[in-house]
Amino acid sequence: QVQPHYDVIIIGAGPSGAAAASLLAQANKNVLVLERQHFPRFSIGESLLPQCMMYLEEAGLREVVEANAQELGFQFKDGAAFYRDGEHTLFDFTAKSSNGPGTTYQVKREKFDQLLIEQARNYGAEVRHGMQVEQVTLANDGGPTSLSVRNLEDDSEQQLSCDFLLDASGFGRVLPRLLDLEYPSDFPVRQAAFCHVKTDLAHPKFDRNKILITVHPTNPEIWFWLIPFADGTASLGVVGSERFFTDDNGAAAALWNKVNDEPYLLAVLGDYQVIRDEQLITGYSANVKQLHGDGFALLGNAGEFLDPVFSSGVTIALKSAVMAVPLVLRELQGETVDWQNEYSVPLRKGIDTFRTYVKGWYDCSFQDVIFYPHQQETIKQMICSILAGYAWDLTNPFVRESERRLRVVTELCQES
Ligand code: FAD
Repeated sequence: QVQPHYDVIIIGAGPSGAAAASLLAQANKNVLVLERQHFPRFSIGESLLPQCMMYLEEAGLREVVEANAQELGFQFKDGAAFYRDGEHTLFDFTAKSSNGPGTTYQVKREKFDQLLIEQARNYGAEVRHGMQVEQVTLANDGGPTSLSVRNLEDDSEQQLSCDFLLDASGFGRVLPRLLDLEYPSDFPVRQAAFCHVKTDLAHPKFDRNKILITVHPTNPEIWFWLIPFADGTASLGVVGSERFFTDDNGAAAALWNKVNDEPYLLAVLGDYQVIRDEQLITGYSANVKQLHGDGFALLGNAGEFLDPVFSSGVTIALKSAVMAVPLVLRELQGETVDWQNEYSVPLRKGIDTFRTYVKGWYDCSFQDVIFYPHQQETIKQMICSILAGYAWDLTNPFVRESERRLRVVTELCQES
């Protein structure tokens, strides 16, 4: 029997897989997406950043997101609000320094991801659900890569082959596991406990167009997200180092014991009802030794994942797809591509920008900047750009020299 062959196979139909599939299908490539789950399926990662609207547009996906936003209950988002022990501050993303969209959405991922992959299918990508990639044999002489795939419906196994393989398997981390590419993250093991609630969020201080990030009143390394959706529901989560949750038994206790410590958050939540059970994820930060190799590249979370605090995950995932696909197309035409300098280095530049501010959040230096009451307008605009996801905008000094700029501005805020 002849093994079915594709130009490109993509493992995973999350945002990075869907964006890559859309682009490849629009370039008339024979592309197959293998996804082990049936959609719609739940995923965490519900607050988008304005920067990702540009990547959705590049992938031919922005129009379908905007056209369906209302019907699918996507919540308009134009900024981030922060609260710490009596201090309120907010960042209006439309007041950022970088060029590009200043608004986006907060989305239920089961709906968002399904919309994107359906559009990729409309462009001509073949998408097969219930298909789990189990083994990969890489081409080592320019020949095809072959994959062993299990059909989870009938437990049968199939061999497929492709000229190029994109791993968009997120926390499945298929190639990092199979090719021994795993590399420890430089972040400590943190965990997140979260659920969905039904609540009208009528508190006068609450702005439903913004994600609300609240810092725990006695431990600033613990923080909460409140992400409203347009259908009267919201996502609520707590994040912190694993060691802060040792007395909490199970996901519900881990979430509510901490939420009950925070009176402002409780006041904003008002009368609520849990409509999606509490869930716990531990040790999600991950890294890899390399983002590419002969005939393959890693996209999105299959590569590196930092931390949820600035909602950068989907933006990085989409960015990786729009960066990788033009290189894949060149390679399919027989060109030699310098994946290190054309993909890995520039992609990691933005990831490293986020890394600086994530580290600064947990050591509190960036928190002190965020909550500083007398922020200079131009500095605030540049920080706003980072928070809006413009982490690759080298015209922004807070991107170009993120560590130095954060250090200087922190000193200014802490001195005064
Ligand atoms: P995914 O969306 O994870 O998709 C991967 C797909 O691959 C899945 O559908 C999976 O079923 C499939 N797959 C896995 N293994 C296999 C296999 N062997 N064979 C076939 N298919 C397979 N990001 C944000 O932008 N905003 C947020 O507010 C945010 N909050 C977060 C909160 C927490 C607690 C965490 C942990 C993450 C958060 N993120 C957030 C990150 C976000 O969830 C991810 O960055 C994003 O989903 C990555 O997209 P992806 O396309 O790389 O992978």
